[in-house]
Amino acid sequence: MKVKCDFCKTEYSVDNMTSSAVQCAVCGHRWSVAGPTRRNTWLMFFASLCALLSAIIFTIAVITQHQARTVSRGPLVASVSSVETITDAEGVSHIVVGGSITNISDDIYGVPDLMIVFLDSDGRVLGRQKFMPSATLLDSGGVVNFNHVLSALPAGTKTISAELSDLETPVGGEK
Ligand SMILES: [Zn+2]
Repeated sequence: MKVKCDFCKTEYSVDNMTSSAVQCAVCGHRWSVAGPTRRNTWLMFFASLCALLSAIIFTIAVITQHQARTVSRGPLVASVSSVETITDAEGVSHIVVGGSITNISDDIYGVPDLMIVFLDSDGRVLGRQKFMPSATLLDSGGVVNFNHVLSALPAGTKTISAELSDLETPVGGEK
């Protein structure tokens, strides 16, 4: 912190104050420095640190929730990565839902129908829309991207998720 002599205006930079009493080295003027300034600085720092921490925790919670909603169980995982509203030449709005289906297993799977799921702010399902897969087979570790255009979202839609209609048996697996 900065300390200034009221008498001769000499400025001092003080890092560790052991007492609030100060004597000027130039003119010998004595005065005392108000303590609460330093404590307030610490309080401000602590408060902003708390705010930052809660912001980080909130962000993590949102991401985790989002992943829990968009990842379906099983060898194939569907997830929504983007939801964009576009307006065509006639001025009509469309919603473009983009995402991907990933095969996280060691087998080859046939790609099932994709369900786009509309959820409200409480996670209730408002509706589903079914799309045919753009690829037929997905190798181990393979990813297929999708981009589906919807004319409108159900009223109250807060989150858009993706599901796969059925879990298929691996291609060439046991009959
Ligand atoms: Zn002085």
